Amino acid sequence: MRVSSLIVTGLTLLTSFGTSAIAQSGRGASMSADSVPDPIKTAVARLDLERYKATVKGLTQFGDRRQGTKRNRDAVDWIEAQLKRYGCTNTGRITYEYRLDTAARGRGTGGGRAGPRTGPGSAQGGGTPRGIRARTGVNNDSLAQPDAKLRALNSEASVPGQRQEVYCTKVGTTHPDEMYIVGGHMDGIGWGEAANDDGSGTALVMELARVFSSPDIQTERSIRFVLWNNEETGTNGARAYIQQRQTLQGKEQPAGSGKYPEPKWLGMIQHDMMMFDHGMPHEDGTLNKEQRHEADVNIEFQVASKFAADAQKLAWALATANEKYATDYPASVGQHMTNTDSGPFQDVVPAISLRENERGVQIGNGWDPHWHQPTDVFATFTDKDFRLGLNAAQTTLAGVAMLTGLSIKK
Ligand SMILES: [Zn+2]
Repeated sequence: MRVSSLIVTGLTLLTSFGTSAIAQSGRGASMSADSVPDPIKTAVARLDLERYKATVKGLTQFGDRRQGTKRNRDAVDWIEAQLKRYGCTNTGRITYEYRLDTAARGRGTGGGRAGPRTGPGSAQGGGTPRGIRARTGVNNDSLAQPDAKLRALNSEASVPGQRQEVYCTKVGTTHPDEMYIVGGHMDGIGWGEAANDDGSGTALVMELARVFSSPDIQTERSIRFVLWNNEETGTNGARAYIQQRQTLQGKEQPAGSGKYPEPKWLGMIQHDMMMFDHGMPHEDGTLNKEQRHEADVNIEFQVASKFAADAQKLAWALATANEKYATDYPASVGQHMTNTDSGPFQDVVPAISLRENERGVQIGNGWDPHWHQPTDVFATFTDKDFRLGLNAAQTTLAGVAMLTGLSIKK
């Protein structure tokens, strides 16, 4: 209903996008009747709710992980150690300088963090807000956090200076020179634990790194898992990555080695706030207590971006993967991606984001009362919330597996 005009186009485009991967998995499925299991299904089954929750929980030990603090740097170290433990040993770091003037430039510029408004009443990213709107904002009051221990953990203030963010890479067997980038942002704000924004997306990316790094899993193309820093200040970490590495794409180094420090970017898939879809606020501003039965994973591309056509194909590829492999919740595709690390990529490469709700017209209308609030802590969320995040993980894992040609060694 949401994008009925796009559905026909989307499906048509999809037939030309990743056709071989889909046909392959189709063949796998028909052969698998009794003997050969579908390798994507096997890989998806290696995700589970308790592991996903444990990874979110692990991230919350560093409080809100605000950029420019020790708790943020400790979280980067912890993430890197976990990635190595998972077997994603090919790690690297991007080092950049964060100054307040770069922050000012980062916010709201075209093709950047905030997407265009298409009219006076439109939402960020360009959608039309409907229905009941509840208040949104960022909590900057430490005393609004009732948990004294967490308040103390979050007390160190951010200072400008050097920043780092970590990534690891699954190297492709036949096309090590091409990759998909799978990202989430590890920094947070609001005096909580940044459990949902964006512990939920960071944990998803880490869990995918774990599964894809299993010794028996091969992919034809490479995959880079990146945990961006400084998203909350204006996607500065993603911008630094593009600035430092865009021109290195596809270069073999050293020549003849078969090694590609920066494979060519085929697409960028971002994850930001994955767990809470309780519906529209009520008239009094309150929300349903439980995850709504109609909850879905929202896959967004930006219709006003340079790579809109290919970004749309990428979105539909993941939606198709969701239909086939996700266990509980469906996916919906929308055209107003905005305000996350995929924004800086959208005019460079096909870029999409996955979220609990559409960022512009839903989250922007107050559909997540914990957004940037002291209540964004692990204990706020129930298994039904975590399960939506797990379904997003299943969606991206299966989609990327199809696109990169996953197989499992016997
Ligand atoms: Zn976020």
